[in-house]
Amino acid sequence: MLANERMVRFEYQVQHGDTISVYPAAAGDEPLPADLRFVLDNHLGRLAAYLRMLGFDVIYHPDYDDQVLAEISAGEERILLTRDRRLLMRKIVRYGYCPRSLESHQQVLEVLRRYNLAEKIAPFRRCLRCNHLLELVRKDEVLDRLEPLTRLYYDEFHRCPACGQVYWKGSHYERMLVLIERMRRDQAR
Ligand SMILES: [Zn+2]
Repeated sequence: MLANERMVRFEYQVQHGDTISVYPAAAGDEPLPADLRFVLDNHLGRLAAYLRMLGFDVIYHPDYDDQVLAEISAGEERILLTRDRRLLMRKIVRYGYCPRSLESHQQVLEVLRRYNLAEKIAPFRRCLRCNHLLELVRKDEVLDRLEPLTRLYYDEFHRCPACGQVYWKGSHYERMLVLIERMRRDQAR
């Protein structure tokens, strides 16, 4: 739905003299960028981590203010996720969504459903800290950074070339797999 050529939601209060255009909600009920990448408001840190865990490209920084978020969304054609509806109403923000839930698991499901992302889930390929794609590294390259038990039990390691964070399939990995499987299942419903 557009009011004066700007995308608005159904809660929009129609003003005298507005030009309203309503389009059918088909498979894609809103304009979408070619690549589904995101920029998240700074109160959505957990959602940012989950989306990165699922392999999605997410810009998130606790210091970014509304103006910066809107400019990144517009300049890089990223979908802006925020619970601040006023921010979504800014003129330059073309792609955006306000998750209804306050709970991060539910927010992930909302985003997966809304953008039909189940098929695009590619876990554990992106740094949870900085969003960069991970690279496989040899164990001896990261040996000095590992705790004794990790050295003993694990042989496959990934590293973030940007921030240096090392990842391996430790105990948290199994928990994440369970979580991802649940999200996939819930998203398919
Ligand atoms: Zn990193």
